[in-house]
Amino acid sequence: MPTLPDENTMYQAIVRRDASFEGLFFLGVRSTGIFCRPGCPARKPKKENVDFFASAKEALFAGYRPCRRCRPLEAKDQTPPAIRRLLADISVHPQQRLTDSDVQRYGLQPSQVRRWFKKHHGLTFQGYLRSLRIGRALSLLDKGEKVIDTAFASGYESLSGFTGAFKKKMGRSPACSTGVPVVVLSRLATPLGPMIAGASRQGVCLLEFMERRMLETQFARLEKRLNARLLPGPSEHIDQLRRELDMYFQGHLHEFKVSLALAGTEFQMKVWHALQSIPYGQTRSYRQQALMIGQPKAVRAVGRANGDNRIAIVIPCHRVIGENGQLTGYGGGLWRKRFLLDLEQENLK
Ligand SMILES: [Zn+2]
Repeated sequence: MPTLPDENTMYQAIVRRDASFEGLFFLGVRSTGIFCRPGCPARKPKKENVDFFASAKEALFAGYRPCRRCRPLEAKDQTPPAIRRLLADISVHPQQRLTDSDVQRYGLQPSQVRRWFKKHHGLTFQGYLRSLRIGRALSLLDKGEKVIDTAFASGYESLSGFTGAFKKKMGRSPACSTGVPVVVLSRLATPLGPMIAGASRQGVCLLEFMERRMLETQFARLEKRLNARLLPGPSEHIDQLRRELDMYFQGHLHEFKVSLALAGTEFQMKVWHALQSIPYGQTRSYRQQALMIGQPKAVRAVGRANGDNRIAIVIPCHRVIGENGQLTGYGGGLWRKRFLLDLEQENLK
């Protein structure tokens, strides 16, 4: 049974119409008898009028009717089948030009496709295609293909067009591009809300809760922090992470096997490795963790390095709590930390 966030957190989410709480809870408004998603634009009820539910089913059983505006009975986070077909085709053939009528052949309206990409990738559809093409060009160049062949194989009509687009995205010319770190990004739906995952060629290097929709400015910040170019697109590591996370949230997976690409100072690496050695379902205090790395005085620095952990859940910084057993800070919010600890307790067997 999922734990709900506390009522204040949920009420604030309603007031802010925060879409990142989508699917985490539903609200019923007593005065109207209607229930909604947290991001519904139609409601801003008084707190004393609100009932909270973990599922749409519970709200129905409590006698609420679904809102016509936000349609809480329709699964929202799922990718429509037509978009899934389109995504599959463009990831295989990103070099192909797609016109509006090509898109319509998938049974999709061009405006619907634009909205979907903006919402899920923070990019326009054309921007997403451009990124896929650059990603394909990079892997061809890495294999030793000539720049001119790469340009045409990636769907560019001229060498100068390719060089310009490449420079704009990668900050350097294609001729000296081999070895540029690239991080592929993907959005994952979880019972705790949407997360953003990133992977380099070596492994997963990012897993964070998305508090808001991913915008291009956030991409830029991540690029700086990871010192890499970010491109949306497919990644085997992220596919594996997605499968393992599903099993983790079902209580069936106690240890992640997916490859990780950690980048940090020597001290941070020590702290993160210590986190990985805390068994599923157990907790440690910051003091105990400092002892684990043989630096009993570094309690505060350990706390900071935990906070710098970029791979939530997989590197289980949620398993570190205060000396008195209190939950202390967590980047994704304390209610998420509580959820993860409860989930692990329940599935210890
Ligand atoms: Zn509604």
